[in-house]
Amino acid sequence: MAYLASPSATKAVINKYSFAFQKKFGQNFLIDGNIVREIIEESGIGPDDFVLEIGPGIGTMTQYLCEYAREVVAVEIDKSLIPILEDTLSEYDNVEVINEDALKVDIKQLVADRNDNKPIKVVANLPYYITTPIVMGLLESKAPIDSITIMVQKEVADRMQTGPGSKEYGALSLAVQYYADAYVVAKAPASCFMPRPNVDSSVIKLDLYDECPVQVKDEALMFRIIRASFNQRRKTLANGLKNAQNLQFSKEQIETAIEQLGKPLTVRGETLTLEEFAKLADLLS
Ligand code: SAM
Repeated sequence: MAYLASPSATKAVINKYSFAFQKKFGQNFLIDGNIVREIIEESGIGPDDFVLEIGPGIGTMTQYLCEYAREVVAVEIDKSLIPILEDTLSEYDNVEVINEDALKVDIKQLVADRNDNKPIKVVANLPYYITTPIVMGLLESKAPIDSITIMVQKEVADRMQTGPGSKEYGALSLAVQYYADAYVVAKAPASCFMPRPNVDSSVIKLDLYDECPVQVKDEALMFRIIRASFNQRRKTLANGLKNAQNLQFSKEQIETAIEQLGKPLTVRGETLTLEEFAKLADLLS
């Protein structure tokens, strides 16, 4: 089977199987060999690596992953793509395709079962409608993951890297920055995909920290506080925390903690840095 990363090869597979693109699954397949090779190169995968690919589509990037990595597991939700992948990946004996919703896969268990608990690499051209839950799920899984190299909507890549003061700043920015060093490694215009999306895309690499640079006593509490602060962006931090269903602090406890943080009671959560959220969580824990 020839490489699929071109408009003609992709069209040939689509026609052979009368495949109908499903918008609800965010299907925009890569048709540009240069960008696929760039993703593979930037992901840094080598012959010792176990790679998890989320959403292989017709197998365009999977082909390259199979050639560079020791073993590849690809999780694809759309069952009509399974027979296609059997065909396009038939030359490779180091790949397993799992027909499953990636959000339902127990990543920690997968790494334990399949890679002896040794760190894996994740590579994906993500379906844009579930980028945030997938990235949050990977980061919060606590599975041994070395790096996550993903194609995402350009604005989402920006959101992952931004800090206080930007309207893009939010729970995703803080989670990414708590767990990883994140940097954009490539840009991809809409012309790299079939069908063309309405947005530009970026490839962002998250190198996960062995040890988080910010120390916090109760990580789960910090993220509940972060979510509560951004759920009601227009409200003050104090009100956001008071109104949160999953936080049980009194008005006095919250106000004392904000004062001890050195902030006025009118402060909004969106102005706090990761370090300040960690300190606030420690004050409240
Ligand atoms: N990797 C292929 C490529 O680059 O050409 C396809 C990328 S396409 C943007 C996203 C892929 O993710 C599609 O194949 C889609 O069916 C699949 N997908 C969507 N939602 C998914 C989910 N919840 N779990 C696993 N795969 C999913």
